[in-house]
Formats: sequence, structure tokens, C-alpha cells
Amino acid sequence: MNEKSTRMNALEQQLTYTFGDQLPAPGGAIEVAPGVKWLRMSLPFALDHINLWLLRDEQDGPAGRRQGWTVVDCCITHDVSKAQWEQVFANELDGLPILRVIVTHMHPDHVGLAHWLCERWNAPLWMSSTDYHTARLSSQTTTAFGGEGAARFFASHGLNDPDSVEKIRNRANYYPSLVPDVPRSFHRLMDGYVVRIGGRDWTCISGYGHAPEHIALYSAQGKLLIGGDMMLPRISTNVSVYEVEPEADSLRLFLESIDRFKALPEDTLTLPSHGKPFTGLHTRIQQLHDHHRDRLAEVMEACGSKPCSGADILPIMFKRKLDLHQTTFAMGEAVAHLHALWFSGKLRRSMDADGVYRFSAA
Ligand SMILES: [Zn+2]
Repeated sequence: MNEKSTRMNALEQQLTYTFGDQLPAPGGAIEVAPGVKWLRMSLPFALDHINLWLLRDEQDGPAGRRQGWTVVDCCITHDVSKAQWEQVFANELDGLPILRVIVTHMHPDHVGLAHWLCERWNAPLWMSSTDYHTARLSSQTTTAFGGEGAARFFASHGLNDPDSVEKIRNRANYYPSLVPDVPRSFHRLMDGYVVRIGGRDWTCISGYGHAPEHIALYSAQGKLLIGGDMMLPRISTNVSVYEVEPEADSLRLFLESIDRFKALPEDTLTLPSHGKPFTGLHTRIQQLHDHHRDRLAEVMEACGSKPCSGADILPIMFKRKLDLHQTTFAMGEAVAHLHALWFSGKLRRSMDADGVYRFSAA
């Protein structure tokens, strides 16, 4: 067993990585199915890469039938990402243009360079309406994902030490720094909509709880699922509550959403946004249910011994040390678990005199 495979965790060993330890070189690709190429670009975060997909396409235009490619997801706006795309343009497109840009959801690593790709190739953007508008608004405001509203929201869940509050307040430019612009028009994707790409039909499957309206794509020809962030093999998808929807029941939405993938065959090849392509879809759905059931049990136990805020839950749910960026993700996740128990009647919520929500056994 080589070093990489010994680093697989126990749950990953129940899945099959179809391409073993192979990874696309930066600026290169691996063909995972006829006409479907896997790209991997680097990210300057703890989660250090994203997978993007190139799908061989042909479309009717004013000058007749055009051959080219559809891109799924874009990476963040960053010089390194643009340089990696340039290598892809030079090496992987067979001299053909990009005809269309599909974005699974509005997070910066997925939509960040959509404006650049669409403009450069004069290609339309295809995306869910909810995520398109959220991305556009977030790229033009300094109040999404950071800033005063976020600081107040996290403080109401107990992350109220002055240093953290100040840092979150000052992080107001987070989204626009990674997504400085979004194309001015788009083509709407919706659940059940079928997109014909090259010779294949891809059916949109909407998913909730991670992004406002995430779109995964399934092709029965070859049993391929472009899972986006809704079906990841190694890490569990971030499921968060944010200040713009402070009483969301995101975890219930997420778990209901992944159950919709149970209708797909077990030997579906899932193409995830992070990690490696895998088979074992139904196993992975069950693992994610088990993971969240265990986290919910831990949260329930903690709230049974004393009323807990989101911040009180952090060391219970996350055993490792977190930087501020990870702490805000973790807080969103802690609140999502508290809310799932609150909305299902197992916990009740009260706001204490210090302005912090605490949850206790109902
Ligand atoms: Zn995401």
C-alpha cells in the first residue's frame, strides 16, 4: 500500500476510487469517460483544490453547428487559477472553443472566474436562478459572508470575544475579493431540466442546505454524476446557517437532498468537486447520514447537561484547532445541528440576558 492510500480514512475504504491515486496535473486533465475530462486546480485555502469538468459539446449557432466544450465550474478569481486555465486552453481543448459555462452553485471556488471565462469565450453562463442572483448580489456588496451582520449573527450564537467579532466585522470584502464580478445575464437551470451536452443528456438535480439552490448533473449514459459539493467522498459537505437566513434548517434540507441521489444506480461514477471520482454512491449517502446522526447525538448530549450556545458546541463537534475562517464555517455547522434538533422538537431555544441563544433539552 503506498503512502496516499494508507492515508485514506476508514470510511473512504468502503468506496472505490476508480482512478486510484491518479490526479490531473495542474493545467492538465484526465479523461474519466468519453468526452468528459477532469481538471484539478489549486486553492489557497485549507481545502487546497477544486475539481472542474470539461464536457465535449456541440451547439447550433448562427454560422451552423459548432464543436467545442462545456465547462462545469470555474475556480476563484486568482492569478494562479487564470494561469492554470491558460494551460488548459492550450493543452486540453483540441483547438476548440468553450461554448458554455455551467456553475453548480454560488460559492467562490465554483463561480469566481465565470465572468472571465464567459467574457473570454463569449460563452453563456448556465446556473440556478437562486445561486445566480445570490452570487451577483454578494459580489457587489460588502455585507455578505462577513461584516457587521455576520459579526452580530455569530455573537448571538456565542462567538462574542472582541478579537473574533472584530476580525469577522473586518472580513466584509471576502466574497467580492474572490468573485469580483458575475456575468450580467444567465440561462436558468432548474430541478429536472435536461441539458444536452455533446451526445449526452444530463438531468439537473437540485440540492439544498449547502448553497441556496445547488445543481448536480446526472447522465444515465455511462452513469455519471457531477455531484458538485453535494456528494464528496472524503470530507463532509459544509452545512451552515448564515446571517441572511438565521433560522434556516439547513441540515434537514441537506439530508433530504442527498437522499434524492438514492434513486441513482449504486455503480454511478460520482465526479465530486473535492477529492477523487468514486463509486459507492449509496454507501456514501449512508455514511453521511451516520456522520450527522453521530454529531446530532453529541450535541443532544451536551445540551442535556447544560444549555449550550453554538460556540459551546464547537469543541464537541470539532476536535481539531480551527483558524478564524474555519471557525466561522464550524459555527454555521454547529448552529445547523442545533437547529435540526430545535425544529424537530428535541431542543428548545432561549435568548439569555447576554444576548446569546442557548439550546436545552425540550
Ligand atoms: Zn460549495
